[in-house]
Amino acid sequence: MGFSTIAIHAGNEPDSATGAVSVPIYQTSTYAQESLGNHKGFEYARTQNPTRSALEKNIAALEGAKFGFAFASGMSATDAVLKLVKAGDHVIVGDNTYGGTFRLFNKVLSNYGIEFDFVDTSDITNVERAFKPNTKMVFVETPTNPIMTVTDLQAVSDVAHAHGARVVCDNTFMSPYLQQPMNFGVDIVVHSTTKYLNGHSDSIGGFAALNNEEDAEWIKFIQNSIGAILSPFDSFLVLRGTKTLAVRMEAHDKNGRAVATFLAEHPKVKKVYYPGLLSHPQHELASRQQKGFGGMVAFETGSLESAKKVLENVKLCTLAESLGGVESLISHPATMTHASVPADKRESLGITDGLVRVSVGIEDVEDIIEDLDQALN
Ligand SMILES: *Cc1c(COP(=O)(O)O)cnc(C)c1O
Repeated sequence: MGFSTIAIHAGNEPDSATGAVSVPIYQTSTYAQESLGNHKGFEYARTQNPTRSALEKNIAALEGAKFGFAFASGMSATDAVLKLVKAGDHVIVGDNTYGGTFRLFNKVLSNYGIEFDFVDTSDITNVERAFKPNTKMVFVETPTNPIMTVTDLQAVSDVAHAHGARVVCDNTFMSPYLQQPMNFGVDIVVHSTTKYLNGHSDSIGGFAALNNEEDAEWIKFIQNSIGAILSPFDSFLVLRGTKTLAVRMEAHDKNGRAVATFLAEHPKVKKVYYPGLLSHPQHELASRQQKGFGGMVAFETGSLESAKKVLENVKLCTLAESLGGVESLISHPATMTHASVPADKRESLGITDGLVRVSVGIEDVEDIIEDLDQALN
């Protein structure tokens, strides 16, 4: 079955009680049991909820995974996946991950005896060199936020599996429509559904998809034990969002390419980070690994003042954190999404004070370009 057919039908069976075509919001905390130990498979809503189950089937299918779990946020999904490793284990992480992921690993989980090494995973020799006898996981994000560095997922999977380690990929920037990491050997895919999967900037959520039954059992156990579940209403919203994922991603991709091309030719722009441009150092790898390049574009204005001018003069683009919604958002990574990354590390990653990130929406692209043009000028 094709992607859109799966997106519209997986998990979306008519409701067994009423025949409702749209999966109802089962807003309940508990379920009546017929007699002692005799129930319909639902006991308590932290453990099971039909709306959440529908979404879990849906996104798992979109990633080509057997199992899927929906969480209260992207960070709680990542946190649950990291509970597959224990004190004394070592994890290799891409050095340019989402700021919140860096914070969770570096400031929180490192207090519990888990060891992290942050390396540039776009060069496979860095990954090879970082392995230790206790390495149990490699966590990558591709393309990275906001510099759009691409990592070769098959190469990372081959190296990690040779060392008996799991590979986790944060696929938030691409969505399963543009990239399916499991096709390249990745074991676990995580998402912030807050972004493209929900797509309408009106819900916070996260997801973990995987095939290994034992790991899936543990993540399910963690989801229930810790309780960072996605609510029935948010599950409904994301389920509604994924139905149009293919058409939205096509539009984000088309607009992203046009905006990146426009910026690359603009005299006030020093550099554009977008894997769809021929000038991107990993354009060829991105073309092989991804079905498109998406709607995330970052560009260098040269200074904080220039960045400020752009950010404060846009009219259509909204100055805000987050990404992946139908509306174009513009942000300043150094002071917004990556403020928790130390200044010297930011600088070495290219996240300068002059860097601006755009989440290109699906408005008419001429209007987005006109807005950026007047703000730059
Ligand atoms: C937003 C984001 C996250 C965190 O997700 P939340 O839903 O905000 O918790 C993780 N990874 C990436 C790439 C993101 O963009």
